Amino acid sequence: MDISRIREEFPILGRRLYGRPLVYLDNTATSETPREVVDAVVNGYTVTKANVHRGVHTLSQEATLLQEEARRRVAAFINASSHEEVVFTRGTTEALNLVASSLGGMLLGEGDELILTVMEHHANIVPWQLLQALKGFRLRVVPMHEDGSLDLDAYRSMFNDRTRLVSCCHASNVLGTVNPVKEMIAEAHAHGVPFVVDGAQAVPHMKVDVIDLDADFYAFSAHKMYGPTGVGVLYGKREWLEKMPPYQGGGEMIESVSFDKTTFAELPFKFEAGTPDFIGISALSKAIDFIERIGIDNIAAHEHELLRHTTERLLREVPGIRIFGQAPGKCAIISFLVGNEHHYDMGMLLDKLGIAVRTGHHCAQPLMRSLGIEGTVRASFAAYNTIEEADAFVEGVKRVSAMLE
Ligand code: PMP
Repeated sequence: MDISRIREEFPILGRRLYGRPLVYLDNTATSETPREVVDAVVNGYTVTKANVHRGVHTLSQEATLLQEEARRRVAAFINASSHEEVVFTRGTTEALNLVASSLGGMLLGEGDELILTVMEHHANIVPWQLLQALKGFRLRVVPMHEDGSLDLDAYRSMFNDRTRLVSCCHASNVLGTVNPVKEMIAEAHAHGVPFVVDGAQAVPHMKVDVIDLDADFYAFSAHKMYGPTGVGVLYGKREWLEKMPPYQGGGEMIESVSFDKTTFAELPFKFEAGTPDFIGISALSKAIDFIERIGIDNIAAHEHELLRHTTERLLREVPGIRIFGQAPGKCAIISFLVGNEHHYDMGMLLDKLGIAVRTGHHCAQPLMRSLGIEGTVRASFAAYNTIEEADAFVEGVKRVSAMLE
């Protein structure tokens, strides 16, 4: 991997902050965007902008073609059987709200049970709780071991004749833990229970094959995988999507409307009410081009090397550091605290050194509570990060810790 060539594709990485080169380590929150994705957005506004699926005119047909090509591109990228199983949303959050509302509304009733895990992002907790208030089902929460891996014995013991659904992240946005979702899905299916995967933190960092996983649903966001903001994907198996009621109503999702009876459009349009972010969607296909040109396995190997190097140095050189999440095979996310230093102070002072990290609860308050902390400092890597940046980060943490001591 020629990192300096990759970096040239990201104009933002040339920025300087406080007289120092930007070291961007907030990739879990959002990744930066290569020029070809930005160019696709500019092209969408300056060359082909017309609303999709509505016009006989050339621009509308071009815009529609770009959107539908992107759908096929996404389907191939995650190995879906058909592009009709790819629903575009605003992001992972909307994708999970769609599943909770539509599938959850269909499957979960009084006395039923839904299994989640202790390491879920709020996006995979709150939509279910909103439904729970209406339906009165029970939430079961899979605990984890000290290293941040899920307690799979506890998971297996949670199934009973009231279990209706499981929803779990593929990779934790705090711990970096990569959950064995393929085995977990097989377990759920052995009990006749469908499985929803929150893949927001997996798709940018590892090969995801929804058929191999046998996932019933798989959600992810474009902006975390070098793509544009405002676009996400919900993959769903056709047999489920066909049975599920629409999530939102409006234009584009209908076959015919009258005040007596409305019928709905074919898949996937039944789930895409209103004008989609068709320009963002077409740009997502350029983000996939970018990933595939480098190779997702090369990206993963590079990020793992950054993770190994940084973790080793932090543990060796920063007295009092605690890293949350040390499960084998974890992805390149380092959540940590040093002594009694406040995560917010660490983040603020690292920023003054040009180093962008995230601080706080990372939208995972139940996980923070189970760890007995309020928040962490989180550094996370992407394809364009370098060993020099990792070293600058470690030196920054040492310097800030010495100041805060
Ligand atoms: N799930 C996980 C594991 C995440 O990390 C995030 C983003 N931090 C989300 C869901 C929500 O993604 P978005 O904000 O793009 O909808």
